[in-house]
Amino acid sequence: GPAVVWFRFDLRLSDNPALTAATDSGRPVLGLFVQDEAGHGSRPLGAAARWWLAGSLRALQAALARVGVPLILRRGPAAVVIPDVLREAGAGMIAWNPRPMSAEQAADDAVRRIVAETLPHVAIADGLRRTALLHDPAALRGRVFTPFWKTVTAKLAPPAPLPVPPLRAGLSIASDRLADWGLEPTAPDWAGGLRETWTPGEAGAAARLADFLDQGIAGYATLRDRPDLAHVSMLSPHLRFGEITPGQVWHTVQTALASGRAAAPDADKFLSELGWREFSQNLLHHHPNLAAANLQPRFDAFPWRPDDRLLRAWQRGATGYPIVDAGMRQLWRTGWMHNRVRMITASFLVKHLLQDWRAGEAWFWDTLVDADPASNPASWQWVAGCGADAAPYFRIFNPILQGEKFDPDGAYVRRFIPELAGLPSAIIHQPWRASPLERAAAGVRLGDTYPAPIVDHAWARNRALAAFAEIKSNA
Ligand code: FAD
Repeated sequence: GPAVVWFRFDLRLSDNPALTAATDSGRPVLGLFVQDEAGHGSRPLGAAARWWLAGSLRALQAALARVGVPLILRRGPAAVVIPDVLREAGAGMIAWNPRPMSAEQAADDAVRRIVAETLPHVAIADGLRRTALLHDPAALRGRVFTPFWKTVTAKLAPPAPLPVPPLRAGLSIASDRLADWGLEPTAPDWAGGLRETWTPGEAGAAARLADFLDQGIAGYATLRDRPDLAHVSMLSPHLRFGEITPGQVWHTVQTALASGRAAAPDADKFLSELGWREFSQNLLHHHPNLAAANLQPRFDAFPWRPDDRLLRAWQRGATGYPIVDAGMRQLWRTGWMHNRVRMITASFLVKHLLQDWRAGEAWFWDTLVDADPASNPASWQWVAGCGADAAPYFRIFNPILQGEKFDPDGAYVRRFIPELAGLPSAIIHQPWRASPLERAAAGVRLGDTYPAPIVDHAWARNRALAAFAEIKSNA
């Protein structure tokens, strides 16, 4: 019988130990993806990530079909679906890659038990090499980034990535139609900007990395903070869905470094960002409640002021602060936001508007194509000041100065807020200070074509500091 490869968020053919183990068994291979709406072991996906998943599954299905291997799609709890599929296919083996989180491991253990009990003749290959992360989160616990990353890098290098194995084609069994899963929007179709921006799948991931090494990485160490430039990799959704592994990225960067195509400061800085990904995953492993509970309990008493009107203005990019609004519109249109602007928009929601970080985290979860169960809540807690190794709460970003510093010509604002495009660069981050003549020339009418600021920066800053003072003394 065939070897079934159970794909999860490892939607690729290369550097895939489960696929390699199945191929090495000499059996024909049958791919399987199980859509478990109840999210056993993982958080149900948001809308943008569901769109990505559909594209990634289509890409994987096409890549497997080129070598005659089917990808079977089934819906339901894995512990029920998997034994059914193994029986229908008359399978002799099942293989899957280990996942890093304890809840995921518990879900996988349940599947292993039921297969072992009910189908004892099926070989289970599951104790395979870890590829989702560079390190094993169970073996390491760190709440401060720098020593954490030192420990991880001391243990590198990760093993060389596996090539695409020479798959043996096999017979197929019944599969759901992807279109019936309802992962993609129909009416209204809000995904146009996503389609323009991204190519989900392994080939799209490899192309992004190649482009980044050609054009982006030179200057990364200093220019990665500039949302108006293209000096970051945009690999995050590809990494999230396992279309490329951190080990593959690591090795490709090392090769670029050795051949002089990348400079050491840029390569080190870039790899340390992969380190932040590892750090967040490590936090989630040890704090499964990361998206719900403050890591610093004193924040449980924080005087948030929930207000739907303010939350909606932020979500829609209508706060009146151009750098904040440009970021929120980039998020809505493309499913991604530049890291510097994620920090600015998150800080604005939590500190200027006193909205609970969990409300912002939920919006990002629904709208980001790279929405990650570890990086998203860990970063929100970091910005809010309640996280591990967090920015101190009293460090409050000034959205005007941040805009002027990191989008100095206003090119990023002009791209996402065309209503402001005609304003001179010197004033574009504070349109309310433009002269009546400048506004008239640019066709800007505050409160009409573009909102007036919903809060005054200096006032909001003082209010945030006063709110923090209320919980500061708590242990
Ligand atoms: P690059 O600069 O090219 O970095 C390479 C890779 O390193 C990224 O693809 C990513 O996997 C990882 N990385 C970079 N920065 C971070 C970071 N600060 N924390 C963790 N990993 C990092 N990242 C997500 O992948 N998913 C999320 O849901 C997410 N939510 C965030 C929410 C907030 C409020 C903030 C401030 C940051 C969040 N990040 C998240 C981290 C970071 O903004 C993105 O990973 C990064 O912008 C992705 O762009 P890139 O691939 O071009 O990054």
